[in-house]
Amino acid sequence: MVIILKELADRIENHGKSCYPEECCGIILGKSGGGKRNVSDVCEFQNHQEENRRRRFFVTPREYMRAERIAAEKGLELLGFYHSHPDHPAIPSEFDREHALPWFTYIVLAVEGGEAKVMTAWELSDSRDKFLERHLSVEQNLRDLTGVGKKAGPV
Ligand SMILES: [Zn+2]
Repeated sequence: MVIILKELADRIENHGKSCYPEECCGIILGKSGGGKRNVSDVCEFQNHQEENRRRRFFVTPREYMRAERIAAEKGLELLGFYHSHPDHPAIPSEFDREHALPWFTYIVLAVEGGEAKVMTAWELSDSRDKFLERHLSVEQNLRDLTGVGKKAGPV
């Protein structure tokens, strides 16, 4: 299960709407434990896939390093990435799967005609040949995670 704060889900939606009809992308940060992931921060990234920015989300190695650095500076885990699908369902594409990394959570937001629609969360299967959908719960407050102390997450 992936739990994301309402205000952060709103930020992803606003990012997706402001980039429409191009894709937006960014990173999700927080804590993981007990089979759950708490998203407590998000950070916008540029989409550097020049040829087809409407359809192709891709994080470059340089951006990946930057993402890890941001997470370390905030004392959070890099939990994964988000991106929008303009006028396309919130289902990862073959391109998304081929460029996905194991373990990370991929949040996909459908933006239809400039309006934010369905938001979903995915993780690669162990064999990496398909994405498995994870339950995405939008909440006002984050839950305590098993094995994670009270210091988890920022105020
Ligand atoms: Zn995609």
